[in-house]
Amino acid sequence: MAPEIMQPSNQSQNDKNIIHRVSTNKLDDNHNYNHANGNGKVEAENSHEVFKPKIRWPDFIVQLSLHIGFLYGLYYLIALKAKFYTYIWFFVLIYVTGLGITAGAHRLWSHRSYKAKLPLRVLLLIFFTIAGQRDAYTWAHDHRIHHKYSETDSDPHNAKRGFFFAHVGWLFLTPHPDVVEKRKSIDMRDLQADPLLMWQKKYYPPLFALLVIFFPTIVPYYFWNEDLWISFWTAFVCRFVTVLNIAFFVNSVAHMYGTKPYDKKIMPVENLAVAITAMGEGWHNYHHVFPYDYKTGEFGGWQGYKFNITTAHIDFFAKIGWAYDRKYASAEMIARKVAKSGDGSHFLSHEEAHKTSIYGYGDKDLEIEDAKALENLKE
Ligand SMILES: [Zn+2]
Ligand SMILES: [Zn+2]
Repeated sequence: MAPEIMQPSNQSQNDKNIIHRVSTNKLDDNHNYNHANGNGKVEAENSHEVFKPKIRWPDFIVQLSLHIGFLYGLYYLIALKAKFYTYIWFFVLIYVTGLGITAGAHRLWSHRSYKAKLPLRVLLLIFFTIAGQRDAYTWAHDHRIHHKYSETDSDPHNAKRGFFFAHVGWLFLTPHPDVVEKRKSIDMRDLQADPLLMWQKKYYPPLFALLVIFFPTIVPYYFWNEDLWISFWTAFVCRFVTVLNIAFFVNSVAHMYGTKPYDKKIMPVENLAVAITAMGEGWHNYHHVFPYDYKTGEFGGWQGYKFNITTAHIDFFAKIGWAYDRKYASAEMIARKVAKSGDGSHFLSHEEAHKTSIYGYGDKDLEIEDAKALENLKE
């Protein structure tokens, strides 16, 4: 059952979930969108199929139990019932599994924003497997469709459906038929050709039992005589659900609360709190604009305001030759996008941008057309 925790769609159920048609302007965007993407639906003007999701009860019960278990494990941690090294182990696990998600499943496998040599791929795959967030292939599949069809019915965790749905609801509700449909159109051949990932996918259930539950639980028990019961609830359940929710925050918080310096027309935002907890993944407005950038943010590194420690790790691995071919957006590309579609917050915080911002009449950065028009408008 455990490996099914994060499993998305049960395709056979989806057809039953289209309930009725109503006339609504709100959904016309999606209606047109579907046509534009050629899924072949033909509908009467101003009508649309309204999808009503159903609760997938086994998934709901698993999520509910896990979150109750999280509180139980948290009690042992807060009440200082665990041994000192168990706390260290708790944070080490969060750290390395976080890195497995951000540097592995996300930046390497979903976006191919850099390349990694075998030792790094093996290391990241181990870290990612301990995180317990399904196999890397499935994770990347959902993530690619999230980027490609962001904030439409085809987005598995479409943030337009509200905070709770984007955070966790999408994991225990039947998916929108468009998600199921569009999943088929995502090119996954690169990952299908990766024997390491296909091996992990094939053996995911036993790997889950071994690396997500058994290994984290047995280490404290074996090495520093932690109580097995406490070890289970802290190093497995509490740790697992903590990382799960940090990842959920990227889909919920980082699609709702923050600034949009690069593109104000999309929902993803720059959010410092998410950047800190999710190891640099909170610079989400930037990331959705430049998904191929291995930094997933304009800035990256260990230092102060950058808050992007995943980038610092990838840079370190590049230094020792394990990571290479890191792709990123140039300063010019960023400046162009900021000027074209940003919400203005970039200009307030970016020193360079102030140098080229328009100050008034005679500014050399004034658009040529505007300068010409101004000449004619003089009185
Ligand atoms: Zn992404
Ligand atoms: Zn996103």
